Amino acid sequence: MSNTKLHIQNGSCPVYKKCGGCQLQNLSYPEQLKFKQRKVEKLLGRFCRVEPIIGMEEPYHYRNKVQAAFYTNRQGKIISGVYQSGTHHVVGIDSCMIEDRLADKIIVAVRKLLPSFKMTTYNEDARKGFLRHVLVKRGFATGQVMLVLVTATPVFPSKNNFVGAIRAQFPQITTVVQSINPHATNLVLGDRQSVLYGKGYIEDELCGCRFRISPKSFYQINPVQTEVLYGKAIEFAGLRGSETVLDTYCGIGTIGIIAAKHGAGRVIGAELNGDAVRDAIVNAKLNGLKNIRFYKTDAGDFMREAARESERPDVVFMDPPRAGSSEVFLDALTLMSPKTVVYVSCNPETLARDLDHLCKHSAYKIKKIQPVDMFPHTQHVECVALLTRDKNSRKS
Ligand code: SAH
Repeated sequence: MSNTKLHIQNGSCPVYKKCGGCQLQNLSYPEQLKFKQRKVEKLLGRFCRVEPIIGMEEPYHYRNKVQAAFYTNRQGKIISGVYQSGTHHVVGIDSCMIEDRLADKIIVAVRKLLPSFKMTTYNEDARKGFLRHVLVKRGFATGQVMLVLVTATPVFPSKNNFVGAIRAQFPQITTVVQSINPHATNLVLGDRQSVLYGKGYIEDELCGCRFRISPKSFYQINPVQTEVLYGKAIEFAGLRGSETVLDTYCGIGTIGIIAAKHGAGRVIGAELNGDAVRDAIVNAKLNGLKNIRFYKTDAGDFMREAARESERPDVVFMDPPRAGSSEVFLDALTLMSPKTVVYVSCNPETLARDLDHLCKHSAYKIKKIQPVDMFPHTQHVECVALLTRDKNSRKS
């Protein structure tokens, strides 16, 4: 890694304070890693030794998903960028040191095209106007690019010409989707969408498997570190072949599908987001796997039902959102008592809370905790924890 580059870039972002995204930017990258290591040790060190955090070789431009809010100021100038932290005031940004460079360029080009197509931007206060956000997702391995235009209203008269104009500049764009979001909400994407060009999704590859990703499906934003993270999760699972594996909070099925490729005998996935579940079902087929099923359900309900039906998995992967898991989930997990639990967490605070619950109410021991830096320059840190239960200690 080039230290000069780190030195020059650190703290040099002009909107560092206003954006609030890269909270650790004032620290050098090695200092950031130390900071995150200490944070994880403070929160989780009482469970077991924390392995040294795995950082990135090149901790820049790693975000494969970039979104920008659009706004027209009093002088009639169109601005695209991020909301100032804690507000809905748009801070103009043309490029960002953690975002994919091509995605940033596409967003600027969309902004420059708007006037010639008489496309207005949405004003949240007046609840008038057309374009609210632009989202770009890029497949790291495949190079496929999805452009999503989030509009307040469905009618888009110049859509074909607009798609033609943006694709003429960026032939890398493989699909364009209009997402219609008329609601006063903090959610970026709306409930309705219409495919303007291409297939309406992109594909990417991770750990030797291929995945389809729809606009609303969750997909890890740092592909280089995702391979590291999933590699650790699979290593911790210790699959030998023929195990029954649950992949809970499975998104588009990534972890379960990679586990199946590593010999798991049977995989069952559970996920709340219907679009992600549809992707997961296609993804199992894309990878030639027949031993996987996916359910669209709350993970806690799924676990309770599985426990009631006396399902006895060997390995449970769990990868909940920042809020962590639920007591319903953890109690059902304790009932089913798989030999191995691999908990992938993007929030060490809720991970600590959930591990506390399990230590109190079950026979699980925390064997390993591996932090992975998925989000350089931000305060966020990902961890994989390995839990195993003592032999013959099925608690019920
Ligand atoms: N394992 C996947 C997704 C992890 S992100 C991956 O690595 O890509 C967490 C996922 O949990 C998201 O897909 C989100 O839609 C889903 N989710 C959130 N709350 C849930 C719940 N209560 N039950 C099931 N899934 C949930």
